[in-house]
Amino acid sequence: MSEGRPESVERLVEELSRLPGVGRRTAERLADHLLRASNEDAMALAVAIRDVKRAVKRCTTCGNFAETDPCPLCADESRDGTRVCVVADARDLLAVEKAGAWTGRYHVLGGRVAPLDGVGPEDVAIDELVRRVKEQSITEIVLALDPDAEGDITAHHVMRALESTEVRISRIARGLPAGSSVELASPATLGEAFEGRRPLS
Ligand code: ZN
Repeated sequence: MSEGRPESVERLVEELSRLPGVGRRTAERLADHLLRASNEDAMALAVAIRDVKRAVKRCTTCGNFAETDPCPLCADESRDGTRVCVVADARDLLAVEKAGAWTGRYHVLGGRVAPLDGVGPEDVAIDELVRRVKEQSITEIVLALDPDAEGDITAHHVMRALESTEVRISRIARGLPAGSSVELASPATLGEAFEGRRPLS
């Protein structure tokens, strides 16, 4: 507790400092900004957070964030339901969509397998993917995972989980420079990576 700071402000600083990439000093700066902002501006932020938490849920089919369930991508009959692109999170899905590189559907794992951080295969939506492959007539899976250690481990676990199925699995090409990410790749690079996807099974 910092001296001379009202308890409610201290609470705000603590909440803000829990956000990713926001350290204590940045949290204090943000809190200071909110204190000086008009009631209207500060409340607009609070209301936006409340509305998002009320309105947006994970699609029970693909795991994408949406205001409807199924989400618009799962509900879109013009998309090829036999092909599914697997991404780590919703930000990667948005990057692939923006690149216009994919006309099938998606599966959002909600994270990556990272044993060093205590994230196991059971902590991401791999079982849900296997169920989808078995229940829907999915014939092709394309893994759009970052070309790094966690991406490799995640790909390995997805492949193992799907071993007993007939589904074809490929992974987008290393046209993505090593150490880069799906989310930050340019649309052109992502498009090429999809074109050059390599079969894994
Ligand atoms: Zn969906």
